[in-house]
Amino acid sequence: MLYTIPDYYQNFKCTADQCEDTCCAGWQIAIDRKSLVRYGKVTGKFRRRLNRSIRWLEGTFKQGKDGRCDFLNEENLCDLYSALGKESLCRTCRLYPRHIEEFEGVREITLSISCPEVARILLKKEEPARFLEYEKEGEEAYEDFDLLAYSKLAEGREVMLDILRMRELGLELRAGLVLALAHDMQVRLKKGEVFSCDQVFERYQKEKAREFIRLKLMESGDNIEERYAFSRQMFQNLYQLELLREDWESHLRESEYLLYGSADDSQDGRDAYGKMHQDFAAWLTVNMPEWEIQCEQLLVYFIYTYFCGAVYDGRAYAKIQMAAVSVMLIYEMLAARWRKNEKQLDFEDVVEIVYRYSREVEHSDRNLEAMEQMMEEQLIPWFSKERCKERIEGKEGKIWM
Ligand code: SF4
Repeated sequence: MLYTIPDYYQNFKCTADQCEDTCCAGWQIAIDRKSLVRYGKVTGKFRRRLNRSIRWLEGTFKQGKDGRCDFLNEENLCDLYSALGKESLCRTCRLYPRHIEEFEGVREITLSISCPEVARILLKKEEPARFLEYEKEGEEAYEDFDLLAYSKLAEGREVMLDILRMRELGLELRAGLVLALAHDMQVRLKKGEVFSCDQVFERYQKEKAREFIRLKLMESGDNIEERYAFSRQMFQNLYQLELLREDWESHLRESEYLLYGSADDSQDGRDAYGKMHQDFAAWLTVNMPEWEIQCEQLLVYFIYTYFCGAVYDGRAYAKIQMAAVSVMLIYEMLAARWRKNEKQLDFEDVVEIVYRYSREVEHSDRNLEAMEQMMEEQLIPWFSKERCKERIEGKEGKIWM
């Protein structure tokens, strides 16, 4: 079995009681069957505590005030761990913040940025993220696994990550290339023309593709009206998701108000939004130039984690859109926080917004599914259906088909 891990994997160490937002509160922790059976066999003094703090039929830990796990003590340490040792933890607690995607013969392990410490490690990382591989015994057979589609997706992902790591190009250009590549790949996968994906990979590594995307970005880059409408729509999407933390909704409402003003779509509101974005972008360039690298790391993170999952649901392009929209929403929330802080922002603000966004969106299968569905229906403006149609019909040059 081939295992992959990010190159910052070994840097992670749980900060336990020092953590500003423990993962042992705020969400329901499901106990796997094996651990539940193990807990059932515990005897002695701790037996009564287990009986009191586990919902045996549901297979979950009970929660106290603020959704804190019943085993989390006042020092923010786990009583189960202290009484029965590390091995006693259930699968969820043992693994978190590791995230595993399984494919035939491959297990991809990443670290979830829903953990503040992981977010901090990723956002501090200056060199481009790389993924390491190692072999370990054991293999699982998958019925109906499309190995060919998976290997093309993995190849496409490599090309996309290489593009994202080309720091001599502007980040918008890199993101644009990746979106366009994924779009063209999706068209071919849908038609069952898996082998022709190779031409797509080749095309997007050429200067001609860069010229075209530059042109597209220039055409639509300054359209603040479009950006306002799209990002506002994306905020509305977030309200439709399952709410994991109660205070998330008020955070969204506050950010929305700071960004777009009152509910009506007035011209004044749009002008103010445009002005704020201009000022915020200028502020970032001077005061937080590392944001461009952080953006790259986030895009790499989302794409690496989810893209190959398209082998199961065919949604290659939606996954790339979700990566881009997630980074855009994080940026919007940062702009709102900057405004709230009277035009100040620091590294810990970025960490907080990143890990909270990830907790809400990534830690619910329902939310991931809903986000991807929305991403299939709502295209990023410069990549809207009309514009794609023009390209596909060859009206804007040959490089696309
Ligand atoms: S969120 Fe991360 S750092 Fe905090 S307690 Fe959980 S694993 Fe540890």
